[in-house]
Amino acid sequence: MSSRSEATNVAPSDAVLPRRVLKFGGTSVTGAARIDVIADVVRERMKECNPVVVVSAMSGVTEQLRRASELATRGEAGELLAEIERRHRDAVQEVACGRPEAVEGVEKVLREAARLIQGIELVRECSPRTLDQVLSLGERLSIQLVAWGLCERGLPARPVDSSAIIVTDDRHVEAEVDFPATEERALRLLAPDGTIPVVTGFLGATPTGDRTTLGKGGSDYSAAVLGWALRAEEVEIWTDVSGVMTADPRTVPDARPLRSLGFNELLELSHWGARVVHPKTVRPLRERGVPLSIRNTMAPSDPGTLVTPRSPKSNMGPVRGIASIDQVGLLQLNGVGHGSESVTGRFVHALDEAQCQILLLSQGCSERSVCVALPPRAVRPALRAIDKAFVLERRAGLMDDPSVEGDCSIVAVVGEGMKDMPGIAGKVFGVLGEHGISIRAIAQGSSELNISFVVRQKDVHEAVRILHRAFFGTDVQPRSAEDASDAAITAKELADHGPIDVVELATEMIAIPSLSGHEHAVCDFVMDLLTAKGWDVRTQPVNAGRVNVWATRKGGEVTLTTHLDTVPGFFPPRIDDGKLYGRGSCDAKGIAAAMICAAQRLADAGEERVDLLFVVGEEASSDGARVAAALPSTSRWMVNGEPTESGLVSASKGSLRCIIRVRGQEAHSAYPELGRSAVDAMVGLLSELRGLKLPTDPELGETTVNVGTIRGGSAANVFAGQCEVELMIRLVGDADEVKQAIAGLVGDRAELLWGSHIPPQRYQVVEGFKTTTVAYTSDVPILSTWGKPLMFGPGSIHHAHTSEEHVPVEELRGAVDAYEQIVRELLGS
Ligand code: ADP
Ligand code: ASP
Ligand code: MG
Repeated sequence: MSSRSEATNVAPSDAVLPRRVLKFGGTSVTGAARIDVIADVVRERMKECNPVVVVSAMSGVTEQLRRASELATRGEAGELLAEIERRHRDAVQEVACGRPEAVEGVEKVLREAARLIQGIELVRECSPRTLDQVLSLGERLSIQLVAWGLCERGLPARPVDSSAIIVTDDRHVEAEVDFPATEERALRLLAPDGTIPVVTGFLGATPTGDRTTLGKGGSDYSAAVLGWALRAEEVEIWTDVSGVMTADPRTVPDARPLRSLGFNELLELSHWGARVVHPKTVRPLRERGVPLSIRNTMAPSDPGTLVTPRSPKSNMGPVRGIASIDQVGLLQLNGVGHGSESVTGRFVHALDEAQCQILLLSQGCSERSVCVALPPRAVRPALRAIDKAFVLERRAGLMDDPSVEGDCSIVAVVGEGMKDMPGIAGKVFGVLGEHGISIRAIAQGSSELNISFVVRQKDVHEAVRILHRAFFGTDVQPRSAEDASDAAITAKELADHGPIDVVELATEMIAIPSLSGHEHAVCDFVMDLLTAKGWDVRTQPVNAGRVNVWATRKGGEVTLTTHLDTVPGFFPPRIDDGKLYGRGSCDAKGIAAAMICAAQRLADAGEERVDLLFVVGEEASSDGARVAAALPSTSRWMVNGEPTESGLVSASKGSLRCIIRVRGQEAHSAYPELGRSAVDAMVGLLSELRGLKLPTDPELGETTVNVGTIRGGSAANVFAGQCEVELMIRLVGDADEVKQAIAGLVGDRAELLWGSHIPPQRYQVVEGFKTTTVAYTSDVPILSTWGKPLMFGPGSIHHAHTSEEHVPVEELRGAVDAYEQIVRELLGS
């Protein structure tokens, strides 16, 4: 039998596996930790199905691109473009470890970005068609990051630009999908082939190939369209919350996730502003009965919400959720004359013609008053349309000027069970009335799935909280550092107590969960404490309202710095056998507490040349450190805190990535004279590599090489056409020396692709401390502008990130003395 037919025999079993679409949103593709989660999910799914991955742009990038295109019309996009470039270049290093294909892929799109922005700057205008090209860049960058990030984690992924698959009309920025044409292309271009397509969300193209986008948040819709086209067994939307919740958790901190939901209910909730899923997502899935689940990349083991055609029975009562649209304009038409034609009809028709989306309509009796809620940008065009449509009535004085009320919001109460249950509306308006919230307009959906109404914008969050309490019986205090921590003591009380005890402070800080990306509460706590202690506390905005905390007194010569975020797996503080346990105890809240106590002690003794810098996001993308690095710093030394078992680090190894690729000649394996196996050649190369002499350093020891992955060959009876390995080299000196040695060994037998490089780092040490070296790399190179680096911290790196994370109490107390002494040595005080 020929090797060829043997090889194709493998395919059908792959092809019959069901398809499943996994969509990862902005926060889910930002940071290496998230890509690890994506890899885990994909790997798990591959056991039972053929997954297709759909991704959004990284958090906030679509908005940045929109803004850049606007600024470009004034010739002012340079800085923002540079920021977008920087974010993606950093991300390539972080999530795809500087893999050459990833770097190449990202750079190619970035070059296009620069050209597009340059073009707009030149002509000083940006048409919707051009805007779509600019907006497409975000997703096109993120498929490079995710696809190569998955390859980096051993999965056979490939980036796919959906403009070749999703066919749309030419309504730029809000294009409509041509379903039949898309189905044909999806079946063809996403046919199972043993790889995992990583597809751009949000993007399509017209039949003639002009790029289009599907509207804000449109990646969810892309996933649904592909789920429909591939008749997927399920579509999974992975985001930053554990499913659809009873309300937006940003407004109602104790909103609860719903385990199950009907398509109709999801449609209503998303239509009324629950942006967890784009409202258009539901229709295609409902049509082909494809279930939808919503899951959390920050908590992948949470069950999430399963959405199915029928609304499930719930024990939570008839109301499933409360949603709101924050910004709407309310437009009211009064005193319409008694014409025979329906005024409401003409009014709606006029708005429709002017393409003004009506979010809510309510009509008074005898058509003397009609009222609509519109998106703010539709108010002006609506007024023009009314002027035109009612020109005669206006002239005859039969109609007042339309009145407009800006700064309004819509609130909707949603649930399938409401239609069989009298009294819900009474309860809604009753409790709002009790709290003095005035209702501007009311509508009840004809489906009786929702009750919606308009309130003043200043009241909207309060209204949602009141209703949530009324229907879900929860207490709805806004989140604050104190209640998030369950802390027995507030920051202010701690500060007022006299000298701060490091163990007490660390305990309070550990009690406040602060997973990367969710550091608000602990940052607030630290800021309150330092403010109460007389520090000048400043925030450094990072993103999405997240901040680094910087505190100073007289301007620091020395900055003590570490991070306040932790890895997942929160567990509360406890002291056991002389050890303080809890998530973050060792990495790095114990360290932060020790730094605060040391700095305070120094300040109390009159040494005020110490600053404190606490960054966020170190465990994910180092976004906090990158922001800090871009800000002016005054310090001459920076003492960075990581667990070093209370040794001062004198040096740390660097790292270098490399891919070796060998090409062979495929042939039937029975005839060695006809072929040349790339795998065979690689095995030879690698054994020579083992014997290669690489630099050593008296302090850091040996250069080490890890062959992380090997890929190659197609079948046992075929000589391998290609073989590829990825190396991670731990450097003790100059990278060039290593590169030359490896290049010399490889010669022209293979291709060498060099990836990211972090040089070894030397640190200042001071008298009176034991010193140590570490083999891992850290954030220190990023923070290079904050002064000559030192590194020190209590606790062991081997306990960090584990479920037994702890720091010995005595060592923690000792760290306060140590930081104080280090500062005094540096300042000679
Ligand atoms: P992604 O980038 O993953 O698409 P989005 O920011 O678009 O994520 O959607 C997730 C966000 O939706 C949540 O962080 C949450 O603040 C918001 N949200 C609003 N209403 C709800 C709700 N009822 N349930 C869950 N999340 C909601
Ligand atoms: N990146 C696009 C947006 O923010 C699409 C998406 O995230 O769904 O609108
Ligand atoms: Mg979204």
